[in-house]
Parts: sequence; structure tokens; C-alpha cells
Amino acid sequence: MGRYRGSVCRLCRRENLKIYLKGDRCYSDKCSFERRSYPPGQHGQRRMKASGYRDMLREKQKVRRMYGLMERQFRSYFHRAERQRGITGTNLLVLLERRLDSVVFRLGFAVSRTQARQLVRHGHITVNGRKVNIPSFLVNMGDVMAVKEKSRNVAPILEGLELVDRRGIPGWLDLYKNKFEGEVKTLPVREDITMPIQERLIVEFYSK
Ligand code: SF4
Repeated sequence: MGRYRGSVCRLCRRENLKIYLKGDRCYSDKCSFERRSYPPGQHGQRRMKASGYRDMLREKQKVRRMYGLMERQFRSYFHRAERQRGITGTNLLVLLERRLDSVVFRLGFAVSRTQARQLVRHGHITVNGRKVNIPSFLVNMGDVMAVKEKSRNVAPILEGLELVDRRGIPGWLDLYKNKFEGEVKTLPVREDITMPIQERLIVEFYSK
């Protein structure tokens, strides 16, 4: 299946959760979810019957959409998480958080993960002084991510940095705003991921 190209606000409404895909707009009263917090479509306002499978599917879709991944990529993260030591659900979330595009977004170099991915692809970001244009690159403890000197007046980056104070930086990252740099203090743990996610349902979905 190809990448979703429709309205991203519909995705928030479908998942019944603000998943912050539109940057500044998500924090304003223009957010569609604030106005219509029911699923899109003709039958969106109908009461849903309880269904175990649907809950698992929705949770998986919600997280996949949050990180802007296609099914195949998402599933491969799941299998990688399964092979690691520890709790599969936690491993999965930690792997997703460590993606360079997600870190660029978390540090405020972009207003959304989609924009972060584009900035990485276009070569605006360095890791430990070297250009990295692979959004799925996994950061490690001690890595320093920076905006390339030539890119420091790119409008979306400045906009992202302006917005980041409102959003906050997770505890496992440090941001040196004036230097356009950020550092991985320590790898993320489950408590660092504060969005309401029931990863157990995702594990159950793929274990069926
Ligand atoms: Fe979701 Fe942002 Fe659209 Fe609101 S504005 S519905 S949070 S993508």
C-alpha cells in the first residue's frame, strides 16, 4: 500500500486522538479535532460496538501514523523489537523514537515528523558532524545532531525552534538552541513516551 496522501487531520479524527501532524496548527483553535472529535465519514458519529480486533488494529494504526510509517516498515520495526531483549512493546516504541526524523522533530528543528523527514532527506541535518540524509537512521547515546550552518535560516527550522518551548523537549535529549544542536543524553525509556499508547495491543495484533 502506498503512502497516505489525504488530509492528515482525518487521521487524528479516525484515531480519536490528536497526533500532532500539522505543526503550529495542532496547537491552535484551527485544529480540526478540537472542532469535530468524531471519526470522519458518513457513519463517523455512530456508536461503535466493542471489538477486540478493532482496538488492536486502531492502536497499531495510530502509532504507525504518528511516526508516518508504511505498514511494511512498521512491521519490520516490530520484528526487530521482538528479537531484542526486554519487553517487545517497549522496544518497539524506543526504536521508533530513536529514528533521526523523530529526534529532529523532538528537538524542534521541525514542526512535524513529516517536515523533519523532509529536512533530513534534503541534507539539512548532521550527526556527529557528518551529513546524514536517512530518516530511519537510529541515534545512539552521545550522538550530536545539528542543523547545517548553511541551513540555519531555513524558515521551517526557525518556526520549529520557536514552537518547541510550548511542546517541551523529552528528558533523554538536550537542546542547545543557540547552536542549533541537540544531544542524546541517554537512550529513551518507556516513561519518556508520553502519548497515550497501549503497545500491548500492537503486540497482540501482530501475534495473532
Ligand atoms: Fe491532528 Fe494537528 Fe490536524 Fe489537529 S491540526 S487534527 S492535531 S493534525
